[in-house]
Amino acid sequence: MIYFDNAATTPLSPTIIDQIKNVNEQFFANNSSMHCAGKKSAEALKDARDKVADVFGFNSNNLYFTSGATESINIVIKGFANQMQMTKDGRNQIIISSVEHPAVYNAAYSLQRSGFEIIEIEPGKDGIINKLELTDLINSKTCMVCLMHVNNETGAINDVNKLAEIVKCKNNNILFLSDSVQSIGKIPYRFNFDLIDSIIMSGHKFYAPKGIGALYLNPKFRIQPIVHGGGQEFTFRSGTVNVPGAILLSKALVECYNNINSNYRKTLELKEFVLSELSKLGVDYIETISRENTSPYILSLALCGFRSDLIINKLSEKGICVSSKSACSSLTHTKSRILESMNVPLDIIDNVLRISFSPYNNKEEAKELCYQINTIIQ
Ligand code: PLP
Repeated sequence: MIYFDNAATTPLSPTIIDQIKNVNEQFFANNSSMHCAGKKSAEALKDARDKVADVFGFNSNNLYFTSGATESINIVIKGFANQMQMTKDGRNQIIISSVEHPAVYNAAYSLQRSGFEIIEIEPGKDGIINKLELTDLINSKTCMVCLMHVNNETGAINDVNKLAEIVKCKNNNILFLSDSVQSIGKIPYRFNFDLIDSIIMSGHKFYAPKGIGALYLNPKFRIQPIVHGGGQEFTFRSGTVNVPGAILLSKALVECYNNINSNYRKTLELKEFVLSELSKLGVDYIETISRENTSPYILSLALCGFRSDLIINKLSEKGICVSSKSACSSLTHTKSRILESMNVPLDIIDNVLRISFSPYNNKEEAKELCYQINTIIQ
């Protein structure tokens, strides 16, 4: 099997596979239990929290483990909106980009029922948010701005420090959240935590197991918990903590950041290799957005005249995995909201393939992908 759908989820890294049994055997106990086994888990959880915080340079008290990115995003967006209403703050406007992942997009829109107004900002054809447009949208009613770092369908990278700076210059009390799921562990970028109030990570996007994620939140912003229970994770996220998951997430994250530059170069080479190989074979394709300012981990292209569902199925018969849009959005069977809002022509949208790389892929696999694409369209 050849796997080029790493934006949907990644395989476990070999190091994580090696450690998964031992970590689950050693740290199965509930970290809230008073006994020695519980204390051992609590210490390991603290160590995992410290390791993650060290990677980014924020205080580990401001990191909360969750089950993944969707949960983290809902905790922050809804939790902050609830706080706004509880304190009768009066601000009720939330700005999001039109290309956010459904976790942000739908969480924000769910708040319309409670009186919040959602303002969408559309990126340009290059997937980049225009700073002047953002400045114009912010007003005295704005309480939260959610702009993603790397888009999961196109790979477009926004300079979120700069976007956050614009927001903070207008009003320092606006919460700036960046969905950083497709960038963490992949893009060498220093988030500026004087400007960015919340980032989101999901273990299964960087070679850790599924079912574990984390969020950072600037302690200046209070949120109301959306899940009530035993008050774990400093009341932010009730429910028994997945301690083995948190340990493995921290290990996978550290491994990614130790190799971030070489992995970046490797995936960039693979992306460029696929494009040059397709050209060599004479395959007629269009890159959905210009390559500048995109992640090397994601390649979005349309095969002229060929629907992506047909190509995906034919490649799958050959044991090659690629996708069209995000795995969550494929369940809806509609055109990609993200590509539509970037004004990609409708006839091209149906032909768009998303090929997403990992440093565990190699050129032989990329060559086979291109060869099979060419065979299918002949
Ligand atoms: N945000 C982005 C940009 C994503 O790509 C994904 C997953 O595809 C998510 C959020 C949701 O992540 P999770 O599967 O951990 O809930």
